[in-house]
Amino acid sequence: MTDRDPDCLFCRIVAGEIPSDRVHEDEEVIVFRDINPAAPTHVLAIPRRHIPSADDLTDGDAGLLAALFLALRRVASDAGLHDYRIVTNVGAGAGQSVFHLHLHMLGGRPFSWPPG
Ligand code: 5GP
Ligand code: ZN
Repeated sequence: MTDRDPDCLFCRIVAGEIPSDRVHEDEEVIVFRDINPAAPTHVLAIPRRHIPSADDLTDGDAGLLAALFLALRRVASDAGLHDYRIVTNVGAGAGQSVFHLHLHMLGGRPFSWPPG
């Protein structure tokens, strides 16, 4: 798999071609605010490398997955959040609309379960 898909919105955000409100970035991961927030805090953690969805992860991505969760933990901590939700939609039928892996982190309001 190539590192970048020129037609991918989030690859363009990684490259800085589309602006984003970044709250964290490191070697492997960036975290930025969702443009259409569904909670007072709603950020997206993405790998810099193009991976379409969680269904495309391989054994070699274990460290990347840890980096995504640890980045969100840090953003939540900085925001003073102790209760929050991390979710990733896999496939259009599950609500995925951007096909570059992203973990949503939402916080700052109560959540119900199961999600719709
Ligand atoms: P999905 O529906 O794939 O799980 O989530 C995609 C998310 O990306 C949505 O919550 C949507 O609001 C967000 N999004 C779509 N386009 C942009 C954009 O250009 N900038 C930012 N910051 N978020 C976006
Ligand atoms: Zn991409």
